[in-house]
Amino acid sequence: MRIEDMIAAVQKKLGVQVDGRAGTETWGAIYAQIVKAKVDGVQPAEAISEVDARSEKVIATLQPQVRPLARALVQKAARNGIQIKVISGLRTYAEQNALYAQGRTQPGRKVTNARGGYSNHNFGIAFDVGVFEGTRYLGESPKYKAVGALGMELGLEWGGSWKSIVDEPHFQLRPAWATDLSERQMLAQLRGFVADDRPVFA
Ligand SMILES: [Zn+2]
Repeated sequence: MRIEDMIAAVQKKLGVQVDGRAGTETWGAIYAQIVKAKVDGVQPAEAISEVDARSEKVIATLQPQVRPLARALVQKAARNGIQIKVISGLRTYAEQNALYAQGRTQPGRKVTNARGGYSNHNFGIAFDVGVFEGTRYLGESPKYKAVGALGMELGLEWGGSWKSIVDEPHFQLRPAWATDLSERQMLAQLRGFVADDRPVFA
């Protein structure tokens, strides 16, 4: 039996999303079953405590399924001696278009190749982190690579592993239905979901 099939079987039994990858939802459910019985009305993933206020403000804009993973990443980085904050989350299509205009029809340098509806940030499944040393924000640091590895351990996709545009501060959670889809195909589906007012994680 492959490990992915074992995880999927455990997930099925726990009643969490079955994708063969053990993220915070799965571990939260395992924790609730083995360590602590689930408290009425409290989802296992919510057992992960909140992080700093700035990060929480951004995390609140993300899909509920992504929030515990963002918190888990902040905590995991801290345990590894790296201070990060979640500094960017959901962007509306209009906000994305404004970013896209930068360095094109508007002054400034180009910061994105994605127009509105073409970034995972437009669907609440992606977030960016910043590395901090005290109150100082570090736009570039070798620590981003270390955080990237920690994020992938949690089941997140990391922008630093992308071939075309390397984006080290970027993390995203791929919905199970998109496992075998290309980025372009996934985005097309996501735009359709939004147009139809359907949930992203079905
Ligand atoms: Zn990003």
